[in-house]
Amino acid sequence: MRIAIVGAGIVGAATAYELAADGHEVSVFEQRGSAAEEASFASAGLLAPALLTPWAHPAMGAAARRRLWSRGQTLPSLVRGAGSAGLAWRWRWAQAGRSPQAPAQLAALQQLDQYSLARTRTLAQQFEVDIETSRGTLVLLRRPECLQALQPALQLLRDAGMVVTDVDADTARLIEPGLSGDTPLAGALHAPDGEAGNCRLFALVLRQAAQDLGAQFMFGANVRALASAPTGLQLAGESAPRRFDAVVLCAGLASAALLRPLGPRLPMAAMHGYTISAPLREETHAPQGAVIDPLHRLIITRQGQRVRVSGGAELGHGGGAQHAPTLQTLYLALSGWFPGGALTSSPQVQVWRGARPMLPDGAPVLGASGLAGLWLNTGHGACGWAQACGSARALADAVAARAPAVDLQPFALTRF
Ligand SMILES: Cc1cc2nc3c(=O)[nH]c(=O)nc-3n(C[C@H](O)[C@H](O)[C@H](O)COP(=O)(O)OP(=O)(O)OC[C@H]3O[C@@H](n4cnc5c(N)ncnc54)[C@H](O)[C@@H]3O)c2cc1C
Repeated sequence: MRIAIVGAGIVGAATAYELAADGHEVSVFEQRGSAAEEASFASAGLLAPALLTPWAHPAMGAAARRRLWSRGQTLPSLVRGAGSAGLAWRWRWAQAGRSPQAPAQLAALQQLDQYSLARTRTLAQQFEVDIETSRGTLVLLRRPECLQALQPALQLLRDAGMVVTDVDADTARLIEPGLSGDTPLAGALHAPDGEAGNCRLFALVLRQAAQDLGAQFMFGANVRALASAPTGLQLAGESAPRRFDAVVLCAGLASAALLRPLGPRLPMAAMHGYTISAPLREETHAPQGAVIDPLHRLIITRQGQRVRVSGGAELGHGGGAQHAPTLQTLYLALSGWFPGGALTSSPQVQVWRGARPMLPDGAPVLGASGLAGLWLNTGHGACGWAQACGSARALADAVAARAPAVDLQPFALTRF
Protein backbone atom coordinates (compact mmCIF):
# COMPACT_ATOMS: atom_id res chain seq x y z
CA MET A 1 0.00 0.00 0.00
CA ARG A 2 1.02 3.64 -0.43
CA ILE A 3 0.86 5.01 3.10
CA ALA A 4 1.40 8.55 4.35
CA ILE A 5 2.39 9.30 7.94
CA VAL A 6 1.86 12.73 9.46
CA GLY A 7 4.56 13.54 12.01
CA ALA A 8 8.07 12.24 12.67
CA GLY A 9 8.22 12.23 16.46
CA ILE A 10 9.08 8.95 18.17
CA VAL A 11 5.61 7.57 17.34
CA GLY A 12 5.73 8.56 13.64
CA ALA A 13 9.31 7.32 13.23
CA ALA A 14 8.46 3.95 14.81
CA THR A 15 5.32 3.68 12.67
CA ALA A 16 7.30 4.47 9.52
CA TYR A 17 9.76 1.72 10.37
CA GLU A 18 7.13 -0.94 11.07
CA LEU A 19 5.06 -0.16 7.97
CA ALA A 20 8.18 -0.07 5.76
CA ALA A 21 9.28 -3.39 7.31
CA ASP A 22 5.91 -4.83 6.22
CA GLY A 23 6.73 -3.83 2.66
CA HIS A 24 4.54 -0.73 2.30
CA GLU A 25 5.55 2.33 0.31
CA VAL A 26 5.83 4.86 3.13
CA SER A 27 6.00 8.68 2.94
CA VAL A 28 6.43 10.68 6.15
CA PHE A 29 5.44 14.36 6.25
CA GLU A 30 7.05 16.39 9.04
CA GLN A 31 6.73 20.15 9.44
CA ARG A 32 10.01 20.53 11.33
CA GLY A 33 13.52 20.18 9.90
CA SER A 34 14.29 16.83 11.51
CA ALA A 35 12.71 13.94 13.42
CA ALA A 36 11.89 14.29 17.15
CA GLU A 37 11.97 18.07 17.38
CA GLU A 38 8.77 18.44 19.42
CA ALA A 39 7.55 16.30 22.37
CA SER A 40 10.11 13.58 21.63
CA PHE A 41 13.07 15.94 21.82
CA ALA A 42 14.29 15.61 25.43
CA SER A 43 11.85 13.42 27.36
CA ALA A 44 12.94 11.95 30.68
CA GLY A 45 13.61 8.71 28.85
CA LEU A 46 11.81 6.28 31.18
CA LEU A 47 10.77 3.08 29.39
CA ALA A 48 9.85 0.87 32.34
CA PRO A 49 7.87 0.53 34.47
CA ALA A 50 5.91 3.06 32.40
CA LEU A 51 2.82 2.81 34.62
CA LEU A 52 4.84 4.41 37.43
CA THR A 53 5.69 7.45 35.29
CA PRO A 54 4.20 10.56 36.91
CA TRP A 55 1.01 11.58 35.02
CA ALA A 56 0.82 8.17 33.30
CA HIS A 57 -2.82 7.76 34.24
CA PRO A 58 -5.38 9.81 36.19
CA ALA A 59 -5.92 6.94 38.66
CA MET A 60 -2.31 7.15 39.78
CA GLY A 61 -1.44 9.06 42.88
CA ALA A 62 -1.59 12.59 44.21
CA ALA A 63 1.31 15.00 44.13
CA ALA A 64 2.99 16.54 47.16
CA ARG A 65 0.70 18.55 49.33
CA ARG A 66 3.61 20.00 51.29
CA ARG A 67 6.58 21.85 49.95
CA LEU A 68 9.55 19.65 50.61
CA TRP A 69 12.17 20.92 48.17
CA SER A 70 11.21 24.44 47.39
CA ARG A 71 9.64 27.26 49.32
CA GLY A 72 8.03 28.38 46.11
CA GLN A 73 6.38 25.63 44.15
CA THR A 74 6.16 21.89 44.38
CA LEU A 75 5.11 20.09 41.24
CA PRO A 76 1.38 19.55 41.24
CA SER A 77 -0.34 20.68 38.06
CA LEU A 78 -0.55 24.33 37.18
CA VAL A 79 -3.19 25.80 34.93
CA ARG A 80 -1.63 28.76 33.16
CA GLY A 81 -3.54 30.46 30.38
CA ALA A 82 -5.68 27.39 29.73
CA GLY A 83 -8.98 29.15 30.49
CA SER A 84 -12.24 27.36 31.06
CA ALA A 85 -11.37 24.69 28.48
CA GLY A 86 -8.31 23.76 30.54
CA LEU A 87 -10.32 23.59 33.73
CA ALA A 88 -12.95 21.42 32.03
CA TRP A 89 -10.21 19.12 30.75
CA ARG A 90 -8.71 18.84 34.21
CA TRP A 91 -12.15 17.91 35.58
CA ARG A 92 -12.42 15.15 32.94
CA TRP A 93 -8.97 13.86 33.98
CA ALA A 94 -10.03 13.72 37.64
CA GLN A 95 -13.30 11.98 36.71
CA ALA A 96 -11.47 9.40 34.57
CA GLY A 97 -9.26 8.54 37.55
CA ARG A 98 -12.34 7.72 39.63
CA SER A 99 -14.26 6.00 36.84
CA PRO A 100 -15.24 2.30 37.18
CA GLN A 101 -13.41 1.77 33.85
CA ALA A 102 -10.08 3.00 35.27
CA PRO A 103 -8.79 -0.42 36.47
CA ALA A 104 -9.50 -2.06 33.10
CA GLN A 105 -7.79 0.77 31.29
CA LEU A 106 -4.73 0.58 33.55
CA ALA A 107 -4.55 -3.13 32.73
CA ALA A 108 -4.76 -2.40 28.98
CA LEU A 109 -1.99 0.20 29.29
CA GLN A 110 0.13 -2.23 31.24
CA GLN A 111 -0.16 -4.74 28.37
CA LEU A 112 0.74 -2.11 25.80
CA ASP A 113 3.73 -0.95 27.90
CA GLN A 114 5.01 -4.49 28.34
CA TYR A 115 4.62 -5.31 24.65
CA SER A 116 6.27 -2.04 23.69
CA LEU A 117 9.25 -2.54 25.98
CA ALA A 118 9.89 -5.94 24.41
CA ARG A 119 9.61 -4.45 20.91
CA THR A 120 11.96 -1.54 21.77
CA ARG A 121 14.55 -3.97 23.12
CA THR A 122 14.27 -6.24 20.08
CA LEU A 123 14.74 -3.33 17.67
CA ALA A 124 17.65 -1.81 19.62
CA GLN A 125 19.35 -5.20 19.53
CA GLN A 126 18.56 -5.70 15.85
CA PHE A 127 20.01 -2.27 14.93
CA GLU A 128 23.00 -2.85 17.25
CA VAL A 129 22.76 0.69 18.63
CA ASP A 130 23.55 2.08 22.03
CA ILE A 131 20.65 4.35 22.94
CA GLU A 132 22.21 5.31 26.28
CA THR A 133 20.26 2.54 27.95
CA SER A 134 20.38 2.24 31.72
CA ARG A 135 18.87 -0.69 33.63
CA GLY A 136 17.01 -0.63 36.94
CA THR A 137 14.37 1.76 38.25
CA LEU A 138 14.12 2.87 41.86
CA VAL A 139 10.94 4.50 43.18
CA LEU A 140 11.79 6.63 46.21
CA LEU A 141 9.20 6.64 48.98
CA ARG A 142 9.56 9.66 51.21
CA ARG A 143 6.32 8.89 52.99
CA PRO A 144 4.22 5.75 53.44
CA GLU A 145 1.28 7.31 51.56
CA CYS A 146 3.42 7.38 48.39
CA LEU A 147 3.24 3.58 48.34
CA GLN A 148 -0.51 3.63 48.76
CA ALA A 149 -0.93 5.89 45.73
CA LEU A 150 1.06 3.48 43.55
CA GLN A 151 -0.84 0.34 44.57
CA PRO A 152 -3.20 0.04 41.56
CA ALA A 153 -0.25 -0.08 39.16
CA LEU A 154 2.00 -2.14 41.40
CA GLN A 155 -0.43 -5.01 41.58
CA LEU A 156 -0.76 -5.08 37.79
CA LEU A 157 3.00 -4.99 37.29
CA ARG A 158 3.54 -7.84 39.73
CA ASP A 159 0.68 -9.90 38.26
CA ALA A 160 2.35 -9.48 34.87
CA GLY A 161 5.55 -10.98 36.25
CA MET A 162 7.58 -7.79 36.64
CA VAL A 163 9.82 -7.99 39.70
CA VAL A 164 9.21 -4.97 41.92
CA THR A 165 10.60 -5.43 45.42
CA ASP A 166 10.15 -3.33 48.55
CA VAL A 167 13.52 -2.28 49.92
CA ASP A 168 14.49 -0.24 52.97
CA ALA A 169 16.35 3.05 52.75
CA ASP A 170 19.79 1.49 53.33
CA THR A 171 19.27 -1.03 50.53
CA ALA A 172 18.06 1.77 48.24
CA ARG A 173 21.33 3.59 48.91
CA LEU A 174 23.27 0.44 48.05
CA ILE A 175 21.41 0.17 44.73
CA GLU A 176 21.97 3.87 43.99
CA PRO A 177 25.16 4.75 45.91
CA GLY A 178 24.93 8.41 44.87
CA LEU A 179 21.66 8.92 46.80
CA SER A 180 22.03 11.51 49.52
CA GLY A 181 22.19 10.20 53.05
CA ASP A 182 20.67 13.43 54.33
CA THR A 183 17.40 13.38 52.39
CA PRO A 184 14.73 11.56 54.40
CA LEU A 185 13.68 8.28 52.82
CA ALA A 186 11.13 5.84 54.21
CA GLY A 187 12.05 3.10 51.72
CA ALA A 188 11.88 2.38 48.00
CA LEU A 189 10.55 0.07 45.33
CA HIS A 190 13.13 -1.53 43.10
CA ALA A 191 12.44 -2.79 39.57
CA PRO A 192 15.73 -4.38 38.47
CA ASP A 193 14.31 -4.83 34.96
CA GLY A 194 13.28 -1.17 34.73
CA GLU A 195 14.86 0.80 31.92
CA ALA A 196 15.57 4.25 30.52
CA GLY A 197 17.04 5.35 27.21
CA ASN A 198 17.42 8.30 24.87
CA CYS A 199 14.11 8.81 23.03
CA ARG A 200 15.37 11.32 20.45
CA LEU A 201 18.37 9.20 19.61
CA PHE A 202 16.15 6.18 18.96
CA ALA A 203 13.78 8.25 16.82
CA LEU A 204 16.75 9.18 14.62
CA VAL A 205 17.81 5.53 14.46
CA LEU A 206 14.27 4.46 13.48
CA ARG A 207 14.11 7.13 10.81
CA GLN A 208 17.37 5.85 9.31
CA ALA A 209 16.18 2.24 9.52
CA ALA A 210 12.90 3.17 7.81
CA GLN A 211 14.77 5.05 5.10
CA ASP A 212 17.00 2.02 4.55
CA LEU A 213 13.78 0.10 3.85
CA GLY A 214 12.71 2.69 1.29
CA ALA A 215 10.58 5.10 3.38
CA GLN A 216 10.69 8.73 2.23
CA PHE A 217 10.86 11.53 4.83
CA MET A 218 9.68 14.98 3.74
CA PHE A 219 10.85 17.63 6.22
CA GLY A 220 9.55 21.19 6.24
CA ALA A 221 6.28 19.66 4.97
CA ASN A 222 3.33 21.15 6.81
CA VAL A 223 0.17 19.08 6.44
CA ARG A 224 -2.72 21.52 6.27
CA ALA A 225 -5.61 19.08 5.89
CA LEU A 226 -6.44 15.40 5.88
CA ALA A 227 -8.92 13.82 3.50
CA SER A 228 -11.00 10.68 3.64
CA ALA A 229 -12.92 9.04 0.76
CA PRO A 230 -10.74 9.55 -1.22
CA THR A 231 -7.93 9.19 1.33
CA GLY A 232 -5.12 11.71 1.24
CA LEU A 233 -3.64 14.87 2.65
CA GLN A 234 -2.91 18.37 1.53
CA LEU A 235 0.31 20.23 2.21
CA ALA A 236 0.46 23.96 2.93
CA GLY A 237 1.36 25.73 -0.31
CA GLU A 238 -0.10 23.01 -2.55
CA SER A 239 -3.43 23.42 -4.29
CA ALA A 240 -4.39 19.75 -4.69
CA PRO A 241 -4.43 16.89 -2.17
CA ARG A 242 -1.98 14.03 -2.52
CA ARG A 243 -3.70 10.65 -2.69
CA PHE A 244 -2.66 7.60 -0.64
CA ASP A 245 -4.18 4.23 0.18
CA ALA A 246 -3.92 5.04 3.87
CA VAL A 247 -2.88 7.94 6.12
CA VAL A 248 -1.62 7.43 9.69
CA LEU A 249 -1.96 10.41 12.00
CA CYS A 250 1.05 10.62 14.35
CA ALA A 251 1.04 14.40 14.75
CA GLY A 252 1.16 14.48 18.56
CA LEU A 253 -0.44 17.60 19.89
CA ALA A 254 -1.55 18.81 16.43
CA SER A 255 -3.61 15.66 15.85
CA ALA A 256 -6.86 17.03 17.30
CA ALA A 257 -6.88 20.10 15.02
CA LEU A 258 -6.08 17.99 11.93
CA LEU A 259 -8.87 15.55 12.73
CA ARG A 260 -11.54 18.10 13.65
CA PRO A 261 -12.62 19.17 10.10
CA LEU A 262 -13.39 15.50 9.34
CA GLY A 263 -15.74 15.23 12.32
CA PRO A 264 -14.11 13.47 15.28
CA ARG A 265 -13.29 15.53 18.36
CA LEU A 266 -10.17 14.42 20.16
CA PRO A 267 -10.08 15.99 23.65
CA MET A 268 -6.34 16.49 23.60
CA ALA A 269 -4.53 18.90 25.89
CA ALA A 270 -0.94 20.08 26.06
CA MET A 271 0.50 19.20 29.44
CA HIS A 272 3.82 21.00 29.49
CA GLY A 273 6.73 19.75 31.52
CA TYR A 274 10.45 20.35 31.77
CA THR A 275 13.70 18.48 31.63
CA ILE A 276 17.05 19.76 32.81
CA SER A 277 20.03 17.86 31.41
CA ALA A 278 23.41 18.44 33.02
CA PRO A 279 26.81 16.89 32.35
CA LEU A 280 27.85 14.10 34.67
CA ARG A 281 30.13 15.38 37.43
CA GLU A 282 31.12 12.32 39.39
CA GLU A 283 30.13 8.79 38.37
CA THR A 284 29.74 7.46 41.91
CA HIS A 285 27.52 10.39 42.92
CA ALA A 286 25.23 10.19 39.90
CA PRO A 287 22.22 7.92 39.31
CA GLN A 288 23.10 4.56 37.76
CA GLY A 289 19.57 3.87 36.53
CA ALA A 290 16.22 5.67 36.59
CA VAL A 291 14.87 7.14 39.81
CA ILE A 292 11.25 8.21 40.34
CA ASP A 293 10.14 10.54 43.12
CA PRO A 294 6.34 10.05 43.13
CA LEU A 295 5.75 12.66 45.81
CA HIS A 296 7.13 15.43 43.62
CA ARG A 297 6.17 13.66 40.42
CA LEU A 298 9.63 13.82 38.96
CA ILE A 299 12.06 11.43 37.28
CA ILE A 300 15.85 11.46 37.32
CA THR A 301 17.64 9.42 34.65
CA ARG A 302 21.09 8.81 33.27
CA GLN A 303 21.45 9.64 29.59
CA GLY A 304 24.98 8.52 28.84
CA GLN A 305 27.34 11.19 30.16
CA ARG A 306 24.44 13.38 31.28
CA VAL A 307 21.99 13.37 34.16
CA ARG A 308 18.42 14.44 33.39
CA VAL A 309 15.72 15.53 35.80
CA SER A 310 12.14 15.88 34.58
CA GLY A 311 8.90 17.17 36.06
CA GLY A 312 6.21 19.80 36.00
CA ALA A 313 2.70 19.66 34.61
CA GLU A 314 1.19 22.84 33.18
CA LEU A 315 -2.09 22.87 31.33
CA GLY A 316 -2.22 25.69 28.84
CA HIS A 317 0.92 27.43 27.74
CA GLY A 318 1.43 30.34 30.17
CA GLY A 319 2.51 32.42 27.18
CA GLY A 320 5.28 29.90 26.51
CA ALA A 321 7.39 31.31 29.34
CA GLN A 322 9.29 28.95 31.59
CA HIS A 323 7.96 28.67 35.12
CA ALA A 324 10.94 29.60 37.28
CA PRO A 325 9.68 28.01 40.55
CA THR A 326 9.19 24.66 38.81
CA LEU A 327 12.72 24.79 37.42
CA GLN A 328 14.04 25.73 40.84
CA THR A 329 12.29 22.69 42.31
CA LEU A 330 13.87 20.43 39.69
CA TYR A 331 17.36 21.80 40.40
CA LEU A 332 16.79 21.37 44.13
CA ALA A 333 15.51 17.83 43.69
CA LEU A 334 18.51 16.85 41.57
CA SER A 335 21.06 18.23 44.03
CA GLY A 336 18.96 17.02 46.97
CA TRP A 337 18.80 13.40 45.82
CA PHE A 338 22.19 13.22 44.08
CA PRO A 339 24.49 15.87 45.54
CA GLY A 340 27.61 16.22 43.42
CA GLY A 341 26.27 13.96 40.66
CA ALA A 342 25.80 16.56 37.95
CA LEU A 343 27.38 19.85 36.89
CA THR A 344 24.23 21.95 37.26
CA SER A 345 26.00 25.29 36.77
CA SER A 346 27.78 24.19 33.57
CA PRO A 347 27.10 26.23 30.42
CA GLN A 348 26.24 22.90 28.79
CA VAL A 349 23.12 22.51 30.92
CA GLN A 350 20.08 22.14 28.64
CA VAL A 351 16.68 23.29 29.87
CA TRP A 352 13.78 22.06 27.76
CA ARG A 353 10.06 22.69 27.98
CA GLY A 354 7.92 20.20 26.06
CA ALA A 355 4.24 19.34 25.81
CA ARG A 356 2.85 15.90 26.53
CA PRO A 357 -0.01 15.19 24.07
CA MET A 358 -2.54 14.10 26.69
CA LEU A 359 -5.99 12.62 26.46
CA PRO A 360 -8.11 12.89 29.59
CA ASP A 361 -7.99 9.18 30.41
CA GLY A 362 -4.21 8.91 30.00
CA ALA A 363 -4.38 6.42 27.10
CA PRO A 364 -3.55 6.95 23.41
CA VAL A 365 -5.89 6.56 20.45
CA LEU A 366 -4.59 3.69 18.40
CA GLY A 367 -6.16 1.96 15.40
CA ALA A 368 -8.79 2.69 12.77
CA SER A 369 -10.46 6.10 12.93
CA GLY A 370 -13.78 5.05 11.43
CA LEU A 371 -13.01 7.24 8.40
CA ALA A 372 -11.97 5.43 5.23
CA GLY A 373 -8.20 4.92 5.07
CA LEU A 374 -7.43 7.08 8.10
CA TRP A 375 -5.54 5.48 11.02
CA LEU A 376 -4.62 6.95 14.39
CA ASN A 377 -1.51 6.56 16.53
CA THR A 378 -1.42 9.55 18.81
CA GLY A 379 -2.16 11.00 22.27
CA HIS A 380 0.40 8.97 24.22
CA GLY A 381 0.66 11.64 26.91
CA ALA A 382 3.35 11.04 29.52
CA CYS A 383 4.43 7.65 28.10
CA GLY A 384 4.93 8.12 24.34
CA TRP A 385 8.52 6.91 24.36
CA ALA A 386 7.61 3.84 26.40
CA GLN A 387 4.64 3.01 24.15
CA ALA A 388 5.92 4.04 20.70
CA CYS A 389 7.44 0.81 19.39
CA GLY A 390 4.59 -1.41 20.58
CA SER A 391 1.93 1.01 19.32
CA ALA A 392 3.63 1.15 15.93
CA ARG A 393 3.88 -2.63 15.58
CA ALA A 394 0.26 -3.09 16.67
CA LEU A 395 -0.90 -0.44 14.23
CA ALA A 396 1.03 -2.02 11.35
CA ASP A 397 -0.62 -5.37 12.15
CA ALA A 398 -4.07 -3.76 12.16
CA VAL A 399 -3.36 -2.07 8.80
CA ALA A 400 -2.40 -5.49 7.41
CA ALA A 401 -5.65 -6.98 8.82
CA ARG A 402 -3.62 -9.21 11.18
CA ALA A 403 -4.66 -9.49 14.82
CA PRO A 404 -2.31 -7.22 16.84
CA ALA A 405 -0.59 -8.75 19.87
CA VAL A 406 -2.38 -6.23 22.10
CA ASP A 407 -6.10 -5.56 22.16
CA LEU A 408 -6.69 -2.19 20.50
CA GLN A 409 -10.30 -1.88 21.65
CA PRO A 410 -9.43 0.06 24.86
CA PHE A 411 -7.61 2.61 22.67
CA ALA A 412 -10.41 3.18 20.17
CA LEU A 413 -11.43 6.71 19.22
CA THR A 414 -15.07 5.76 19.87
CA ARG A 415 -14.49 5.94 23.64
CA PHE A 416 -14.73 9.76 23.39
C1 LIG B 1 8.91 16.82 30.21
C2 LIG B 1 8.52 15.54 29.53
C3 LIG B 1 9.03 14.33 29.98
C4 LIG B 1 8.62 13.13 29.39
N1 LIG B 1 9.16 11.96 29.84
C5 LIG B 1 8.76 10.78 29.29
C6 LIG B 1 9.30 9.54 29.73
O1 LIG B 1 10.14 9.50 30.63
N2 LIG B 1 8.88 8.38 29.14
C7 LIG B 1 7.95 8.40 28.14
O2 LIG B 1 7.57 7.34 27.66
N3 LIG B 1 7.43 9.57 27.67
C8 LIG B 1 7.81 10.75 28.23
N4 LIG B 1 7.27 11.92 27.79
C9 LIG B 1 6.20 11.87 26.79
C10 LIG B 1 6.75 11.68 25.39
O3 LIG B 1 7.81 12.58 25.19
C11 LIG B 1 5.63 11.92 24.37
O4 LIG B 1 4.51 11.13 24.68
C12 LIG B 1 6.10 11.52 22.97
O5 LIG B 1 7.27 12.21 22.64
C13 LIG B 1 5.01 11.82 21.94
O6 LIG B 1 5.53 11.45 20.70
P1 LIG B 1 4.76 11.81 19.36
O7 LIG B 1 5.57 11.28 18.26
O8 LIG B 1 3.34 11.39 19.50
O9 LIG B 1 4.72 13.40 19.35
P2 LIG B 1 5.81 14.43 18.84
O10 LIG B 1 7.17 14.02 19.23
O11 LIG B 1 5.36 15.79 19.23
O12 LIG B 1 5.72 14.27 17.26
C14 LIG B 1 4.66 14.80 16.51
C15 LIG B 1 5.27 15.35 15.25
O13 LIG B 1 4.24 15.76 14.37
C16 LIG B 1 4.69 16.89 13.70
N5 LIG B 1 3.54 17.61 13.17
C17 LIG B 1 2.53 18.16 13.89
N6 LIG B 1 1.64 18.75 13.06
C18 LIG B 1 2.10 18.58 11.81
C19 LIG B 1 1.62 18.98 10.54
N7 LIG B 1 0.48 19.67 10.41
N8 LIG B 1 2.34 18.66 9.45
C20 LIG B 1 3.51 17.95 9.57
N9 LIG B 1 4.00 17.55 10.75
C21 LIG B 1 3.30 17.85 11.86
C22 LIG B 1 5.42 17.66 14.77
O14 LIG B 1 6.30 18.63 14.23
C23 LIG B 1 6.13 16.57 15.51
O15 LIG B 1 7.43 16.35 15.05
C24 LIG B 1 7.69 13.15 28.33
C25 LIG B 1 7.21 14.37 27.84
C26 LIG B 1 7.61 15.55 28.43
C27 LIG B 1 7.10 16.85 27.89
